[in-house]
Amino acid sequence: MRKDIRDLRPGELRDYIISSGEPAYRSSQVCEWLYGKQVRIFDEMQNIPVSLRKVLKENFTINSLELKEKEVSKDGVVKYLLVLKDSNVIETALIPSEDRLTLCVSTQAGCRFGCLFCASALGGFKRNLVASEITGQLIEVQRLTGKKVTNIVFMGVGEPLDNLDNLIASVDILNHDEGFGIGRRRMTVSTCGLVPGIEKLKDKKTGVGLSVSLHSADEAKRSHLIPVNRKYGLTCLKNALKDFTEGCGYPVTLEYVLIPDYNMRKKDAEKLYSFCRGLKSKLNFIPYNPVSEKPWRMPDKTEIGKFTSEVEKMNLFYTLRKPRGRDIQAACGQLRLNKQ
Ligand code: SAH
Repeated sequence: MRKDIRDLRPGELRDYIISSGEPAYRSSQVCEWLYGKQVRIFDEMQNIPVSLRKVLKENFTINSLELKEKEVSKDGVVKYLLVLKDSNVIETALIPSEDRLTLCVSTQAGCRFGCLFCASALGGFKRNLVASEITGQLIEVQRLTGKKVTNIVFMGVGEPLDNLDNLIASVDILNHDEGFGIGRRRMTVSTCGLVPGIEKLKDKKTGVGLSVSLHSADEAKRSHLIPVNRKYGLTCLKNALKDFTEGCGYPVTLEYVLIPDYNMRKKDAEKLYSFCRGLKSKLNFIPYNPVSEKPWRMPDKTEIGKFTSEVEKMNLFYTLRKPRGRDIQAACGQLRLNKQ
């Protein structure tokens, strides 16, 4: 099968074009058509010689993602259900705020990790997305809205560190001046705690932010919620995170979904405190977004207040994420699960 031309990093495209006997500047022109003008067919590349267009057409494709469905929340969050060339379905969420426009992208069709509270793995794992399918989500959303995305979070369906090579290629393309020109610190990768992936991400010096779905600092509870914790437990995870922060110099984010009667007791706050000690991190609390297939509910204000006051007593700094997209199926994998 022919590769999508946007699976190549701009530097790789340049090498390819030079090896085809064309001058290097043609590569910048092709990138402008691909990422600036976002064309879908090679023949629209008007300033590219017909002979080069022919070579590109014979060797590559430009696949586009098709919109299947869109849900708009009252708070401005828009969730898109997009169809890939092989009919697999993925979801992408656009999250506007005062100073930025964030796109939450998927990295896999389905997920292998089966976290208990999450809808993403319920339909099983289908396959990894290639780089052009990750960046393609941004192209399609920008085309539909006419707006420019400023920040990327790899927090949609799938586990980004389980698809590391394609993830890193997409980061490079999103960042490149001839790609999308999005700063590396404006991108955040979220993981359920795949320690080997965290180590590789550190070694690759990608410069992106790292966010870890912690959700409990109690070994048994975390293993129950996030099965991969049985393989890479809390001590191993904390060591990998320490190495990561020492390597890059900035803190990691610890995501903690607040689930009533599960991880919001005084003891849970104490365990969280000991996990955070000595780790350069930012704590982000997220009220659980109920999924009909799962038994849990959303915490109320009193429950949230009680837990956060325990955390405050320990002098731990945190942010509380405003629940968004509650009137649409904005939790990870929810829309995809219900529409497949
Ligand atoms: N696999 C990666 C990225 C995808 S999940 C990871 O685990 O981090 C993105 C975030 O949404 C994770 O923190 C995940 O735990 C959280 N999440 C999933 N389902 C949720 C739900 N129903 N309510 C609140 N957060 C949820």
